Amino acid sequence: MRFLGFEATCLIAIVFLALPNHAKAEEYVVYVFNNVGWDKTEVNKATEETKVIFQQECGVTVQPSAVRYLNIPNEYAALDEEEQLGLINQLEKSPEDISVFFIADSTDAFQAYSYLPDTPDNNRNTIWLTRNVDRRCLARTLAHEIGHLLLNQGNHRSENSNLMHSTCVASNYARAANGISLDDGQCDVLVKRLQ
Ligand SMILES: [Zn+2]
Repeated sequence: MRFLGFEATCLIAIVFLALPNHAKAEEYVVYVFNNVGWDKTEVNKATEETKVIFQQECGVTVQPSAVRYLNIPNEYAALDEEEQLGLINQLEKSPEDISVFFIADSTDAFQAYSYLPDTPDNNRNTIWLTRNVDRRCLARTLAHEIGHLLLNQGNHRSENSNLMHSTCVASNYARAANGISLDDGQCDVLVKRLQ
């Protein structure tokens, strides 16, 4: 009996390893006050939607590196700036890293606010979201405050389609890009700032 010999041909697969573009990313730590009415689902949804906004508008990744839940004393229900600084010092966080605090309330009149990177105190690069934020605007508000820090600008845009317009109109955020857009100039600043 004769066997036909099959010559195995080895195909050398050349695998091209795609070198990733140096993806631009910014990570921030989220601190959520326990027992003041925030729930995990709502916080996660806000950070996820915020990530989508920056990805979609500027192609950059802005996401939490950690979400920490804090048991806080009752006197922190409505924080003033001194209490914020005290809390920050206890957390031993680097003032150069962005931190987002989901708190109960503030003695400040704003529903949400942030301290720009050039703030001299250790509360620079912090964002404070109170329970007074319209829930439908939570993600847009978080993205807006992160926008202030990444753009290092406290001023607002006049076009209400822009993420940096001062107010979130809930019906505007219900769908698509209205109220969350960033233009090329803003994205250029963001991309330069991110590593
Ligand atoms: Zn603002």
